[in-house]
Amino acid sequence: MVKISSRLSTLEESVTLAITAKAKALKAEGRDIIGLGAGEPDFDTPDNIKEAAIEAIRTGQTKYTAVGGIVELKEAIIEKFRRDNGLRFDPAEVVVSCGGKHSIYNLFQALLDPGDEVVIPGPYWVSYPAIVTLSGGVPVVVSTTEVTGFKMTPEAFSIAITPNTKAVIINSPSNPTGAAYTRAELSALAEVALTNGLLMITDDIYEKLVYDDFEFTCIASLSDEVKRSSIVLNGVSKAYSMTGWRIGYAAGPSELVGAMAKIQSQSTSNPTSISQWAAVEALNGPQDSIARMCKEFVRRRNAMVEGLNAIDGVKCPKPHGAFYAFPDVSGLYGRHGVTDSVSLAAYLLDSAGVAVVPGSAFGDDTALRLSYATSMDNVVEAIKRITEAVK
Ligand SMILES: *Cc1c(COP(=O)(O)O)cnc(C)c1O
Repeated sequence: MVKISSRLSTLEESVTLAITAKAKALKAEGRDIIGLGAGEPDFDTPDNIKEAAIEAIRTGQTKYTAVGGIVELKEAIIEKFRRDNGLRFDPAEVVVSCGGKHSIYNLFQALLDPGDEVVIPGPYWVSYPAIVTLSGGVPVVVSTTEVTGFKMTPEAFSIAITPNTKAVIINSPSNPTGAAYTRAELSALAEVALTNGLLMITDDIYEKLVYDDFEFTCIASLSDEVKRSSIVLNGVSKAYSMTGWRIGYAAGPSELVGAMAKIQSQSTSNPTSISQWAAVEALNGPQDSIARMCKEFVRRRNAMVEGLNAIDGVKCPKPHGAFYAFPDVSGLYGRHGVTDSVSLAAYLLDSAGVAVVPGSAFGDDTALRLSYATSMDNVVEAIKRITEAVK
């Protein structure tokens, strides 16, 4: 028997990916399953981006590139930060990786010593605590509820800080809640972080998916002082429906970014050359596909939130961004043998043929995460089936 490293003893497989796989397997068996577990847009990657990749293959852009990304992509990213966020970065302050998740992995490997604490507002994206732990750090979860719109207050943030705290993660709009921080809310959090000398890690992957005229703010854009203590993580997966292409990027202090590139040089080397050229086109090319996608997401969100709130025992706030509904379903516990979010998700998969992710995966056992990155027909049918099943 091979003995697996003790480092892995606490690592759990991504629950969201596991649910998606289970729903796919049931479908393959011929079961009629509606998957609301997905963490990716259901739209096709826009044609101009695909063409750029095909062109890259034809012109022989198929070899190793610079570890941290091709010059053209770094320039496109720098221009994106200037245009969208009013931020100025040098090429040495940017590193491109194999997806946003990889950027986060490199970051924590570069940043954390054993025992270093990272403040993570909960409900959180499943990979944050997992990667912090794997990197020797200690995740410190600050749980939030609907009362504060699932946002961490500066008071709650302050209380969580200890002499071992090194960084804080901001994910706005949030996966799984869709909550998004206003400029004023970010200012208040940044002040606490600056006072305590903490690095602000901002995961802006859902930046482009905001609704109802909500104005996105990147915390690093608040001031030069905040920028110096921030690292911005972003990528093309969500905004351009490019999850399979695996391109994410980070921008921040050059010593930190350089350390991230160093880890990458001894693990994956450069991100896929072809995908990098596709990402250049994504960032520099026409942006109208984003508005079309958002318009459709709003329609589905409204239908889903309305449908959920019509179910007795379910309360669902209206999220400002991303593509998830995160309803409080604790009012359903006690029915049909359901006692928690895991048993409710299992019950819905078995009796309604609807795959959702239990809130416990995100640190909130009173909720479920339902993705509306699926057709309107699926949203409507899924709500109908859930309504029937929980009666
Ligand atoms: C999807 C997602 C990412 C990045 O995904 P990649 O496919 O690795 O680019 C990062 N953070 C959050 C919160 C996400 O939901």
